[in-house]
Amino acid sequence: IVKNNGSPGVGFYHDEMTQAFPNRMIMETHLRRAVELNELTLHYQPQVDLQNGEITSVEALLRWNNRKFGAVPPSEFIPIAEENGLIHSIGAWVIDQACLQLKTWALQGIKQIRIAVNISPKQFTQTDFDQVIMNALKKYQIDPRLLEIEITESAMSNMNTTLIMLKKLKKIGVKISVDDFGTGYSSLNYLRLFPIDILKIDQSFVREIQSECKDAAITKTIIHLAHSLGLEVVAEGVEEIEQVSFLRNEQCQKGQGYFFSKPLPSEEMEKKLLDIV
Ligand code: C2E
Ligand code: MG
Ligand code: MG
Ligand code: MG
Repeated sequence: IVKNNGSPGVGFYHDEMTQAFPNRMIMETHLRRAVELNELTLHYQPQVDLQNGEITSVEALLRWNNRKFGAVPPSEFIPIAEENGLIHSIGAWVIDQACLQLKTWALQGIKQIRIAVNISPKQFTQTDFDQVIMNALKKYQIDPRLLEIEITESAMSNMNTTLIMLKKLKKIGVKISVDDFGTGYSSLNYLRLFPIDILKIDQSFVREIQSECKDAAITKTIIHLAHSLGLEVVAEGVEEIEQVSFLRNEQCQKGQGYFFSKPLPSEEMEKKLLDIV
């Protein structure tokens, strides 16, 4: 439950928090030091092959646990980091950390699992964004195909710069997915122009596929669209067995959501991948 503390638009009181930030400025001050104080971590949520139930990839989701004020959800601090520019250093940390994780897993024999990282539109339009990716891959000697870049439709607003960056990323060899597909200002034109590999069906469509025929129709259409274009397709926010059946029936390749697992700390994800639990 998020309550508003009176400042416009941002609620600072969250039930996961041990204490709330008194105001946004104090939150920003703490966010500024979050990387160096080791307050950020990545949790990992599996993406599961709906035909055989195997984990094929995981999405990295950022967590911030402030020593004084407790846990802050990304929906609260990412928009602030985007506004004040901290998203560049935080985003670079996320990419570095994901590559380090790939390296660590590879050394343990987990070699085929891909990690998807969320990229904010601000980061994506940074002209040397491809260098940030390249440097991290090089540093840990990662096969680029094991890294996936999740962008939203809002990152694609400028056709020219987006196309240039996507081509550079494609050349590096990383995978590119469109997150929350169908909720932005989607233009089918970009699916034609941009080198995209994966569509992620937004959880708002998946949620009611059993009861709302419009949501079912949209979900089916996205799956079929992905198939016709030769793209992979992942359904987000899968919570119930009925949704799994529906998606499987429609030949949706992958699912992600609480039905399979919530996002897990690295060590727990590792145990799952090593089949220990
Ligand atoms: P997203 O990329 O669409 O991530 C999916 C969100 O849905 C995650 O929320 C995840 O915990 C949640 N989720 C997963 N399965 C289910 C389910 O079955 N039911 C429901 N109701 N929710 C589910 P989270 O971790 O709070 O992240 C929220 C958003 O914050 C993400 O949405 C993404 O846009 C952003 N975000 C997270 N990590 C990063 C990051 O490292 N960088 C950037 N730029 N944004 C991030
Ligand atoms: Mg995502
Ligand atoms: Mg999403
Ligand atoms: Mg999102």
